[in-house]
Amino acid sequence: MPPQLPTGTPTEAFIDGRFVPASDGATVSTVNPATGEHLADVAACGPQDVDRAVRAARSTFESGVWSRIHPNERRTVLMRLVELLEENAEDLARLEALDAGKPITDCREFDLPATIEAVRWYAEAADKFFGKTTPVGGEAMGMIVHEPLGVVGAVLPWNFPLSMLTWKLGPALASGCSVVVKPPELASLTTLRFAELAAEAGVPNGVLNVVPGLGHVAGQALGLHPDVDLITFTGSNEVGRRFLEYSAQSNLKKVVLELGGKAPQVVLADNRDRLAEVAADLAGAAFGNNGQNCTAGSRILVDRSIMDEFVAELVKVTEEQWPVGDPMDEGTVLGSLIEESALTRCTAYVDGAVADGAVVATGGRRLREDSGGWFYAPTVVTNVREDMPIAREEIFGPVTVVIPFDGVEDALRIANDTDFGLAANVWGRDLDDVLFLARRIKAGTVSVNGYSEGDISTPFGGYRQSGFGGRDNGMEAFEQYTETKTIWISLQRG
Ligand code: NAP
Ligand code: MG
Repeated sequence: MPPQLPTGTPTEAFIDGRFVPASDGATVSTVNPATGEHLADVAACGPQDVDRAVRAARSTFESGVWSRIHPNERRTVLMRLVELLEENAEDLARLEALDAGKPITDCREFDLPATIEAVRWYAEAADKFFGKTTPVGGEAMGMIVHEPLGVVGAVLPWNFPLSMLTWKLGPALASGCSVVVKPPELASLTTLRFAELAAEAGVPNGVLNVVPGLGHVAGQALGLHPDVDLITFTGSNEVGRRFLEYSAQSNLKKVVLELGGKAPQVVLADNRDRLAEVAADLAGAAFGNNGQNCTAGSRILVDRSIMDEFVAELVKVTEEQWPVGDPMDEGTVLGSLIEESALTRCTAYVDGAVADGAVVATGGRRLREDSGGWFYAPTVVTNVREDMPIAREEIFGPVTVVIPFDGVEDALRIANDTDFGLAANVWGRDLDDVLFLARRIKAGTVSVNGYSEGDISTPFGGYRQSGFGGRDNGMEAFEQYTETKTIWISLQRG
């Protein structure tokens, strides 16, 4: 028996505080990636539904019931939401695991805690984003104030549905904005349940709306809508570019893009005595969430003098510590890929590289085919040239490549030889070498001696083609969701 969806799981759009079907009754099927089986029919919103949601968001925004109340009051409501998320954490974790094929243990131990922490952090920060006064003479006073931006459209990916949602909603709601969310078509159920809990916590009708459906329909309608002030997007580069076009074609709405990456993982020669530890960390960077992660460590650069020992350790840890299995089993570390095309993509990159002279050190094949799901073995590929597609393009699967370098300058050259710039990881002991790389690698986050994206307090986003227009997380995220206004007061008594 496949695991069933709990009764009462919302599947309709959430507009102005109510669950409603799409106006033309359209639905889209969401499946359980671990079995390929149909899980639910979810409302597929069209431009009319998006328009209704934007109108509801505009009307509550202008009414001031959320945008102009004391930020303490927003904090109180959001802290109540934190409590409700905590009470419902197990159910949300199971729903995320079913809909996105993620291991239940990951959902419990990572996704839900990260989701709850993001809401809590921004709830607490709601009244701590200060304005400024400027140094002027006695005849005037210059004030810089932040005001909530208005109606925000959030268009989101499926790889961490809940935590990506709260990276946007935390600061947007704390700032006083009203939001229309277009969740990922492949995994929208937890977003709908989140909206239900937000309403229960006291988020006023119309402040948080969810319009599930297809990207090129609902997502496009939101991108082109003339009354949306900002699109905050996380997803692929290809779709991200479209939002810049939508903006240009409509109302010049602001656009913030969090996009893909090809994060270099640099292992310097002075790690020789701790290669098992480094390999374990880099396996986590590469294979966590099945490599379906924008900061995935899919490009490992190793000093040539320790290359062979390092690869042996990486293969060992991959084979011993990254078992693939049913996401609902507690012992599973890697679940299913999100959809069949993800499996095809992994196979194509690996087989293409092998045809071009690369070598599969471990993995390189489909697993658990009988389950009906899309499982791929965690894979390490060596003998890779820097110019091969497997070394340059985002794969979004459990595949990493190992490339040798000769000294620190060469490591920097290869690390920066990419159009991306989201994240990097440097393993080394020599402070000068490590800081040289940390400062010179073009990436929004460089972690040192341990893979990390930072936490909710640190800004997250990409250099170059990994991002555009702003940062998620930290106090910096408030800049996305607020306008900056100058109030200049002429004074009669200097
Ligand atoms: P995606 O295909 O770009 O989809 C993202 C969102 O855009 C989805 O809601 C999608 O709807 C929608 N969309 C698709 N086509 C559209 C169109 N023509 N117009 C308007 N909206 C459209 O990305 P994904 O496959 O879900 O996620 C994987 C990507 O996200 C990877 O590239 C990854 O690196 C990136 N990512 C980046 C970060 C970061 O913070 N930098 C974090 C996580 C993921 P549908 O669901 O209906 O397709
Ligand atoms: Mg699904």
